[in-house]
Amino acid sequence: MTTTAAPVVRAEGVHKSFGRTEVLKGIDLTVDAGEVMCLIGPSGSGKSTFLRCINRLETIDAGRLYVRDELIGYEERGGRVHELSDTGIARQRRGIGMVFQRFNLFPHMTALENVMEAPVQVRKESKAEARERARALLARVGLAERADAYPAQLSGGQQQRVAIARALAMRPELMLFDEPTSALDPELVGEVLDVMRGLAQDGMTMIVVTHEMGFAREVGDSLVFMDGGVVVESGHPAEVLGNPRHDRTRTFLGKVH
Ligand code: ADP
Ligand code: MG
Repeated sequence: MTTTAAPVVRAEGVHKSFGRTEVLKGIDLTVDAGEVMCLIGPSGSGKSTFLRCINRLETIDAGRLYVRDELIGYEERGGRVHELSDTGIARQRRGIGMVFQRFNLFPHMTALENVMEAPVQVRKESKAEARERARALLARVGLAERADAYPAQLSGGQQQRVAIARALAMRPELMLFDEPTSALDPELVGEVLDVMRGLAQDGMTMIVVTHEMGFAREVGDSLVFMDGGVVVESGHPAEVLGNPRHDRTRTFLGKVH
């Protein structure tokens, strides 16, 4: 696919340390509009930290991170770059949906109320409008019938699907998934991956940290293998999985397959 549009995500030399531990050692990558990038790598390689930098849950120490040509955490005014205010950061974050390993639903709210919450509180949508859209989103993730259930009454897979609907309610242009199926019982993994596959087919731009190599192979447009805070190799999923060029990639794949 050739496109003249700017990439949705552009990372240039992104560095991040916690104290004296350098966790990201210069990450360069781009994610185009409509691309599904799967991010794999051993535990502790910096995958979650990288996702958290994209939506400014972490600040970066060096390098640049752009979402749609906007520098994350900064703005240009009068030809100079300034740090963004909290409201500016909140605005940038609104365009990015994130789904974590743990579902983090509000336990005292129904599925429908969970999905309506941010549109009403943050986007100032009317309750009627937000409710109608929340119903449509719950239908999209296959949960139209469970709109009035509380999280405790839902399975882990259903809760994760509500979490996806809740992220979509903010109309993000980018979705970040951090091991969305790792906490689920095996029989519930498929229903969540199916929803993500549907999103990909609808053209959502996604970065997915996952150990599900089948999903990466079938749905991913690109695959990035990270180890020790660097991108070791990247390319088409079939290529990276079928013909890894680096020993570190081979060793890792040997363990997860
Ligand atoms: P991954 O998601 O690939 O397993 P992480 O990004 O969670 O890796 O973590 C990478 C490294 O950064 C780990 O060694 C982890 O202990 C460390 N780390 C992550 N977050 C913090 C933090 N807030 N403070 C200190 N160290 C952290
Ligand atoms: Mg992680």
